[in-house]
Amino acid sequence: MAGSGTSVEARAAALEEILVEKGYVDPAALDAIIATYERDVGPRNGARVVARAWTDPAYRARLLTDATPAIAELGFGGRQGEHMVALENTPDEHHVVVCTLCSCYPWPVLGLPPTWYKSAAYRSRVVIDPRGVLADFGVTLPATTRIAVHDSTAEVRYLVVPMRPPGTDDLDEAALADLVTRDAMIGTGLARTPGAAT
Ligand code: FE
Repeated sequence: MAGSGTSVEARAAALEEILVEKGYVDPAALDAIIATYERDVGPRNGARVVARAWTDPAYRARLLTDATPAIAELGFGGRQGEHMVALENTPDEHHVVVCTLCSCYPWPVLGLPPTWYKSAAYRSRVVIDPRGVLADFGVTLPATTRIAVHDSTAEVRYLVVPMRPPGTDDLDEAALADLVTRDAMIGTGLARTPGAAT
């Protein structure tokens, strides 16, 4: 896939063209397009960044030191991704991202924010009870794992680097990227283990 910014703009332009041509678009069809961008297309960029970090220690170091240029190395950048910070999950610490004020989100690596990310319930509750919110997402962490909640702002956007699942030593970068879900990069999920259901 071509990189980020251009791709987003191309999609917006294509969508606009349809609207202009037909003068009408089925809202359900529009929802489907948005859902695809939230879940499938957008987060694939971030998944490539994570897979590279998992396989290339020098890249991982660059990503954790200064994420914006490291992400740009893979061709992703632009609006809403100018000041990126990568947060690496470990057995001791699990990172979760929220925007308590609105819905700040790293577009170049994750696409459009999911509806729940913009909800008042998520934004308020994840700060007060992160472990409870993670449980709602089906994520149960050991009691010894500290949960750190990070508040996105207009200035800083976060990308969570989930832990590499066990049993993935033989996988190449593309196969690893397939295991990296959107939620894993927000911190409300974990990377999938190979062969597990989506
Ligand atoms: Fe915001």
